Amino acid sequence: MKDMSRNQPEGVLRVKIDFADGMPIEKKGNLPVEEFHIKGLKKGEFHVKLSPGRKSAEILLKISFERELTCSRCLEGFIKRSELTEGAEAVISDKESFEEDEGIVAVKDKIADLTDIIRDMIIIDEGMKPLCRDDCKGLCPKCGENLNINECGCAD
Ligand SMILES: [Zn+2]
Ligand SMILES: [Zn+2]
Repeated sequence: MKDMSRNQPEGVLRVKIDFADGMPIEKKGNLPVEEFHIKGLKKGEFHVKLSPGRKSAEILLKISFERELTCSRCLEGFIKRSELTEGAEAVISDKESFEEDEGIVAVKDKIADLTDIIRDMIIIDEGMKPLCRDDCKGLCPKCGENLNINECGCAD
């Protein structure tokens, strides 16, 4: 493992890849949560391993994070903790109009920026209908009481 502390590009999620060198690269740290502009994202960590080949590099990405979401049934805010793993490929891009396909990260001037792929992982993890817990009882359709906290008696 090389000493990667020197010569690092700006931004914690921008990773320098030397394809000619071919040495595996490993990097971990805190997610720069403010850079994602994702509502409710509190904090998180990442751990990335890159294995460069001649023209592309395998990426293995692990992230964990905490995000405040609103329950779609009871409308209360709650903290969701997630741990996700994803594989991707870093590909050298000389063209200006590089289509960033799913699972492909463009490498420009030897730099792979992981911000977008991590942002997508976090957004997809939210799901269509977040629930504070699997058996959330939701709100009473008659009086609006949060049935997780109180039995309102409307059903009687
Ligand atoms: Zn709920
Ligand atoms: Zn009720």
